[in-house]
Amino acid sequence: MKKHKITLIPGDGIGPELTEVTKRCIEATGVSIDWEVCEAGIPAIEKFGDPLPENTIQSIKKNKVCLKGPITTPVGTGYRSINVALRQVFNLYACVRPFKVYKGARTFYQNIDLVVVRENMEDLYAGIEFEMGKPETLSIIQEIDNLSGKKISADSGISIKPISISGTTRIVKFAFDYARKNRRKKVTAVHKANIMKFTDGLFLDVARKVALEYPDIEFEDRIVDNMAMQLVQKPQKYDVLVCPNLYGDILSDLCAGLVGGLGLSPGANYGDHVAIFEPTHGSAPKYAGKNVVNPSAQILAAVLMLYYIDEKAAAKKLEDALSRVIEKGEYTTYDFRPEGTAGASTTEMGQAIIKEMED
Ligand code: NAD
Repeated sequence: MKKHKITLIPGDGIGPELTEVTKRCIEATGVSIDWEVCEAGIPAIEKFGDPLPENTIQSIKKNKVCLKGPITTPVGTGYRSINVALRQVFNLYACVRPFKVYKGARTFYQNIDLVVVRENMEDLYAGIEFEMGKPETLSIIQEIDNLSGKKISADSGISIKPISISGTTRIVKFAFDYARKNRRKKVTAVHKANIMKFTDGLFLDVARKVALEYPDIEFEDRIVDNMAMQLVQKPQKYDVLVCPNLYGDILSDLCAGLVGGLGLSPGANYGDHVAIFEPTHGSAPKYAGKNVVNPSAQILAAVLMLYYIDEKAAAKKLEDALSRVIEKGEYTTYDFRPEGTAGASTTEMGQAIIKEMED
């Protein structure tokens, strides 16, 4: 049997308890993995004084596949997002988030099965920001006034939104290739081209051109605000959404809400050589160490990883076991139950999934 070497980043907050349960579930599929455990986020600062240590980067570079728990990003101050940094370091330009309603999930909706393909490198996430009051910020404000005649208040901070032809072509092609490979029928490009003509307008133009190369897949576009409403009213109409970075981020959480919450929403970040699998949710610090959160998103991220490393039978076995546990409802966490009701613990849900695979 093939033994896979994979980097495991437990992360912080609820990350360590989720990755531990996930590791045990993967083990129960019979797939053999040699985990190289590496730190990032708060534990890495405590140990190495660096939220993203070089040995973590080297491990991912070497193994090319990484399963990752969530990592806290301090708001406003402190270091920048490690999640964003990892995507930048490894050029993980495509974020894929499947959203599916599992029978037994707490949701008003049924029959949702859509995928958000989010551009991961550009847009307002490029990290090009200028702090209010700094000399370089004032100089940019002055230059914008010179070039465009538009006045920006001197007490402004500035974030730059770059969207390129090359970056957009790459992500839209990825979305169409994904649709073809996964027998999906339609790609919807999401934008705000009516307002941001030179960024979102470019995104839409490129998407329309790329769509011509895929006559077998239906193509349409939606303005992002309308998209948000349509997703709430008739999510079943959508199949693959391709979005610039920020809209992809926001709509992912909206879609998570449709299918029963962040605890059920996995994600994969793909580059040409490296892939990192993680839940869509964050480190939920208020639940850290309490053994109460839903492990499904982390486990479903592992399912995506198993497909990626070509362990298809194990991937299916794990997803089927998870879906049976959700449907039976006896060992599900609090977020599957009416507001204010306690649920099974994270580890109990994990054990139930393992038992389903053994039965
Ligand atoms: P969050 O996703 O951590 O949690 C928001 C809420 O969602 C929680 O309070 C909880 O009610 C619910 N939730 C999340 N995961 C759950 C689970 N597995 N089971 C049940 N309920 C769950 O969002 P936040 O509080 O805005 O962010 C906390 C930290 O995580 C921040 O520092 C943020 O930057 C970071 N973050 C990291 C990632 C990542 O690692 N990729 C992604 C998003 C946010």
